Amino acid sequence: MIPFLDLKKINAQYQAELKEACARVIDSGWYVLGNEVAEFEKEFATYCETEHCLGVANGLDALILILRAYIELGVMQKGDEVIVPSNTYIASILAISENGLVPVLVEPDVNTFNLDPKLIEKAVNEKTKAILTVHLYGQVTAMDEINFVANKYNLKVIEDCAQAHGAIYRDKENKCKKVGSLGDAAGFSFYPGKNLGALGDAGAVTTNDQELAKTIRALSNYGSHKRYENIYQGINSRLDEIQAAMLSVKLKYLNEEITHRRRITNRYLSEINNSDIILPTIQSQESHVWHLFVIQSGNREKLQEYLTKAGIQSLIHYPIPPHQQLAYSEMSNLNLPITEKMHSQVLSLPVDPTLSDNDVSNIIKVINKFSI
Ligand SMILES: *Cc1c(COP(=O)(O)O)cnc(C)c1O
Repeated sequence: MIPFLDLKKINAQYQAELKEACARVIDSGWYVLGNEVAEFEKEFATYCETEHCLGVANGLDALILILRAYIELGVMQKGDEVIVPSNTYIASILAISENGLVPVLVEPDVNTFNLDPKLIEKAVNEKTKAILTVHLYGQVTAMDEINFVANKYNLKVIEDCAQAHGAIYRDKENKCKKVGSLGDAAGFSFYPGKNLGALGDAGAVTTNDQELAKTIRALSNYGSHKRYENIYQGINSRLDEIQAAMLSVKLKYLNEEITHRRRITNRYLSEINNSDIILPTIQSQESHVWHLFVIQSGNREKLQEYLTKAGIQSLIHYPIPPHQQLAYSEMSNLNLPITEKMHSQVLSLPVDPTLSDNDVSNIIKVINKFSI
């Protein structure tokens, strides 16, 4: 069986360094908010080209804390609206509703799977305070267009970078910028299966806004800037020393892993040739880091069954759109045809950076032979 993602094999590549880093933390006797976290925050801020990086417990918390900080700073208040893509992973939407804000679902562009900038402006009203854009599957959103609408209506732009560590956007002035630095603040997840994965839960916020960074730092540590003095009713959402040490090791190899992913997906893009399958489209090589390689087929169920029989694991991201989840029954009346069609057709192929050339050839051969 060709597995979808072999985490054991991925982490085995760095085993010696990971074990050494783990031992270093054990021996230090210091396990929460110490040097490892401070070092990783510095390294990741440098990587993302931002002034601040704040380690938190997971990706969902990163997004929750950004919005919570904006509420504490008086930028928005409960009941305000946040625009978010309707085909995103549920966590983007949970971060909004958790804060008592209202998610306003906007449909994606059919080619990129990302927010369609043309539809955003129609969703803006006097309650709109932010756009939470998601670089879904690893591809950067059209940020010039989004920032243009945000400037026009004075909205905050928050990036959900959980799937896009290292993706690069070339702006209208031809300047290259990393995700995490493209809006006002960004949330990252380092869940083990993400492109930069810890060996447990972990996340981070990046931003150039010092006030926001200070507020999030306090909110994530019981609402306290200074020990035993609390100015907010905060939460406990901290990145721990062991995960930070693991992430510092893995960050060094992130670009190499992205290159491997691109090598695999470039072969898929040029060699998969089957009229029943729609391949993903990219703006440029650097704009996509291929967290997921998502194809579409009108015969998705048959295709998945066929691949399983041929020994190839595939997954569906995601089978049920957020507005049709029981948790959001208040949205069940929404009519989102693009999203609904996508959710019935998408299928993710393996793009594990440790896949061999042979595995990739095999996957391509099998897919090209698929017919109903
Ligand atoms: C994984 C993910 C999250 C949540 O990250 P966790 O670390 O699992 O909390 C948020 N948004 C998107 C798009 C994700 O893929």
